[in-house]
Amino acid sequence: MAWRSSGASNEALIENLSGNGLIHSSRVKQAMLGVDRAHYAPYAPYQDSPQSIGHRATISAPHMHASACESLLPYLKPGSRVLDIGSGSGYLTHVLAELVKPGGTVVGVEHIQPLVDIGTTNTRKSQEGRELMDNGGIKYVKADGRLGYPEGAPYDAIHVGAAAADFHQQLIDQLRLPGRLFIPVEEAYMQHIYVIDKNEDGTVTRKKEYGVQYVPLTDAPKE
Ligand code: SAH
Repeated sequence: MAWRSSGASNEALIENLSGNGLIHSSRVKQAMLGVDRAHYAPYAPYQDSPQSIGHRATISAPHMHASACESLLPYLKPGSRVLDIGSGSGYLTHVLAELVKPGGTVVGVEHIQPLVDIGTTNTRKSQEGRELMDNGGIKYVKADGRLGYPEGAPYDAIHVGAAAADFHQQLIDQLRLPGRLFIPVEEAYMQHIYVIDKNEDGTVTRKKEYGVQYVPLTDAPKE
């Protein structure tokens, strides 16, 4: 399934993902058409596959980014506040920012400074990215994402782009009522996506989705 959707241009990639049923929402499709993956993936950007971006990080496959956006979509409206933990290349941070503009904010959290810099540089390659960086629509910070980013809380949506050892209550605490957390969690040598909803009445519900392979959410490497 991964390779079937590859294309010769960003538009072809997104149209193929859509045609193959990997993007259902027209809002997600528009947002992904609006962000050229070539600014974020160092080689073969229009392949539907993950790629190394250095520093032991990987830009996820476009179909995974689409799936994450579709899962969080009910919480992504103009003006929404979003946290993207393990922002890496910055690709998903930018797509999420397209989904919450105008007036929304996405904070991309990375614990490796060179990746904070790479995300910033990549986002500034396009005019839309520069505008979002300049008007507060996107902000990158260096921090341990396992603690969330309390300065920007509460968030309508939190995306975790690395596999967590547990559900990290601090992240759930930083969700708005209502709000949604999308998080890959390690269990018994496997990883699964969990979608955790904090409901309007403060109750929390947890749904196990599909199996995945993400790089781990870890301590920062020694500098
Ligand atoms: N969404 C990114 C995924 C990058 S890979 C993309 O598609 O480009 C996962 C990222 O999580 C890596 O960049 C890694 O440095 C980062 N990461 C791992 N543990 C972290 C932590 N504790 N805090 C913040 N970032 C972390």
